[in-house]
Amino acid sequence: MQEFDFIDWVSSQAGGAGEGVLLGIGDDAAVLEPAPGERLVATTDTLNVGVHFREDDPPATVGHKALAVNLSDLAAMGALPRWALLSLSLPEAKEDWAHSFIEGFLQLARNFGVQLVGGDTTAGPLSIAVTALGQTRQGRYLARSGARPGDLVVVSGTVGDAAHALHVLAQGEQADPSVLERLRRPLPRVELGATLVGKATACIDISDGLWADLGHIVRASACGAVLEAQRLPASESLARFPGEQRLAWQLTGGDDYELCFTWPSGEEAALEVIASTLDLPLSVVGRIEDGRKVRCIGPDGEELAFASQGYSHKL
Ligand code: ADP
Ligand code: MG
Repeated sequence: MQEFDFIDWVSSQAGGAGEGVLLGIGDDAAVLEPAPGERLVATTDTLNVGVHFREDDPPATVGHKALAVNLSDLAAMGALPRWALLSLSLPEAKEDWAHSFIEGFLQLARNFGVQLVGGDTTAGPLSIAVTALGQTRQGRYLARSGARPGDLVVVSGTVGDAAHALHVLAQGEQADPSVLERLRRPLPRVELGATLVGKATACIDISDGLWADLGHIVRASACGAVLEAQRLPASESLARFPGEQRLAWQLTGGDDYELCFTWPSGEEAALEVIASTLDLPLSVVGRIEDGRKVRCIGPDGEELAFASQGYSHKL
């Protein structure tokens, strides 16, 4: 069973929009209307040892990441994070680990004005589940749907570093500190998301890999997209690697937590203003087109193919 087939099935069983549900299963977060005109944006993500983090990762970085991936989903909706709940399943003799974990979690929470308001603690295999709640300005938010043929596909920051770091660690080698930082302590693009509301036509955060996550946008928007490999933004560390391996990390590696969004063509100047205001590179990497899939064009105009387009949990 594949993760996304299961989610589709759950969604069909749960039924569509219920009362007070503006956006339910299928986007980066749910958008709820607790009372007329009010908006609550809700998301949850789990981190399991051996799947989402390594046993030997510094616990403060695991705490940071557990919250960061949730704030990243709120960022993808253009929502401002407010509150979080934290459920921890801890094996025995993990007291020091748990203390450092909480320090890392709360440090990031403070940086984004997020208050930890509840959770759960149990004994069991090491596992973390975080729920984050946020609000929107004037009731407006970003969704995966809304991209139209002709729109530009834009990516923030650089992509591929996290996948590169994971690869280096898996080989038992030392990763470049800046690259390791990208994997262990991703920075949710909250400010960017909030700035894009009302301007970007669709948005998602890159957790499974750019190719797969843009696939979620085209699926929700009923369109296709073409990516241009030579336009993908790479960090200095990654730019040193030769084409094919670097592209695989950039296109199909996950865990970058940058935003991928679509933008009306002809509005590039506004994009540049946002990039310089936030001091964050925004790169046009492709275009929305007719069709139903994401294509990727290599440096010589050839269509690229990879064994996998991104991460999907096999259940
Ligand atoms: P993201 O990577 O942005 O966190 P996911 O790929 O995990 O999103 O999930 C896609 C959508 O499916 C989201 O709207 C999520 O809330 C929903 N979803 C995932 N698992 C479940 C589940 N077990 N029950 C209900 N909804 C789910
Ligand atoms: Mg997401």
